[in-house]
Amino acid sequence: MNQHTVAGVEVSGDHWIGGRRVASAEQFDDVSPIDETVVARIARGGVEEAHAAIAAAKAAFPGWAATPPAERARLLHRIADLVEQRVEQLAIVETTDNGALLRSHLRGVMPRVAHNFRFFADYLVHDLHHPEFDTRGHRNQVSWNPSGVAVLITPWNAPLMLATWKVAPALAAGCTVVLKPAEWSPLTASLLADITVEAGLPDGVFNVVQGFGEDVGDALTGHPDVSRISFTGSVPTARLIARSAAANLTPCSFELGGKSPFVVFDDADLDEAVAHAVEQYDNAGQVCLAGVRLLVQDGVHDEFVARFVERASSLRQGDPRDLATDIGPNVSREHLERIDGFVQRAIADGARVVIGGGPHTELGGLYYRPTLFADAAPGSEILTEEVFGPVLTIQRFATEDEAVTMANGTEFGLAGVLFTGDPDRAERVGAQLVAGTLWVNCFFVRDLRAPFGGARHSGVGREGGTWSFDFYCDVKNTCTNQQRWTIQP
Ligand code: NAD
Repeated sequence: MNQHTVAGVEVSGDHWIGGRRVASAEQFDDVSPIDETVVARIARGGVEEAHAAIAAAKAAFPGWAATPPAERARLLHRIADLVEQRVEQLAIVETTDNGALLRSHLRGVMPRVAHNFRFFADYLVHDLHHPEFDTRGHRNQVSWNPSGVAVLITPWNAPLMLATWKVAPALAAGCTVVLKPAEWSPLTASLLADITVEAGLPDGVFNVVQGFGEDVGDALTGHPDVSRISFTGSVPTARLIARSAAANLTPCSFELGGKSPFVVFDDADLDEAVAHAVEQYDNAGQVCLAGVRLLVQDGVHDEFVARFVERASSLRQGDPRDLATDIGPNVSREHLERIDGFVQRAIADGARVVIGGGPHTELGGLYYRPTLFADAAPGSEILTEEVFGPVLTIQRFATEDEAVTMANGTEFGLAGVLFTGDPDRAERVGAQLVAGTLWVNCFFVRDLRAPFGGARHSGVGREGGTWSFDFYCDVKNTCTNQQRWTIQP
């Protein structure tokens, strides 16, 4: 039994396959970013465990697919109940594992995990309509049929929330699941497995394979028994998965990186704009959607910078378990060095440090100072590549056209943030921005009915509501000639 006590909570470090814990010959250290101590030893899965999980999910599929929607929904609500009962445990384990703020986990993230299950349970029962329409006496009937085994691969920056955006719709749709959490944050996926047992999910419907992408990736994504692959992570990994999935033409959904613009016009409410701009440092900048390129119109540029610097300087950086902390550590030493590499190259390229510019020397560990760059050269790395750390840039613009050109000037298209007091301008400029999600005079408001995903290299497909459902299903249209019945219905 590979059992650990993490922040007072019992967590298994083993896989969860076919309704039982499965060990691996090899294990790896799970290191907390808070103080770089080892908090658990995690089974390092390989091809054998990946194939066993797919086999278990395949065996469980006919039974789960045939389970009436109302019963599937009841079980998902039961999972949500248990998540709600364990918000505090899940929150402290996630914070210990990935260093994100306990405050956010308690108030927003973990309740949202429960909501993910409730939303798709209700969607399945109340919102999924089966349209029928007539074509010259032929009845068209659309049905959503579960596609089979879904492989779900997730990152470390919001581990359980991002996993359950996928697990909940896949299970609701009638698919069985193999979840591969990120190696840097494996713990809450393991706790979710415990919750599914307690909720009464049949064995094999939900499986967890722990380990490294390079060990299990191909075994999971190139397997002929996998019907869907949903991945959230980086662009290079998505390319590898797409190649592997091509062997069986397995449909993929990709939620990838971003370098989103945060555009502020002269006519914006500057207090609001500055407050939201500083929020782009949330989760130590490890948010795919963050508007990390601040583009500010000439008339308010200097005032914006002064207010931004004042506000950003008052952010409290430190232990993410302290509820007063605003910015915690970055996820790992390797990632911190990657962030610092971007910063040092930007400085060498001639960008000017307005605030920050290096690790937090007093706190030490994995804490990086919130950083803002100005005067970066157009097209330079710091303006075009995703850093995924607390590093923003600021640029000024004069006209709407200039703002649009700058905003669209990367290979990404995940999100955009726009601050203006003029609704016509919002419509005009917003229509030209390349983004899967555009926030106007707000940030991070998210409704599960809305599509979520990215344009260009930020993704393939969309998640949320009907988009998730369609992805996990084989949608079928049955066209019946109503005049050819020999036995009257
Ligand atoms: P990553 O691509 O390194 O890893 C993500 C997952 O893929 C991990 O579970 C990893 O083990 C797995 N993986 C690695 N190699 C694999 C392979 N060959 N085959 C299959 N799986 C493999 O990404 P990361 O560093 O964990 O996450 C950060 C990235 O995720 C950033 O680019 C960020 O923008 C992106 N992200 C996107 C969203 C979104 O919704 N668009 C949300 C969060 C994070």
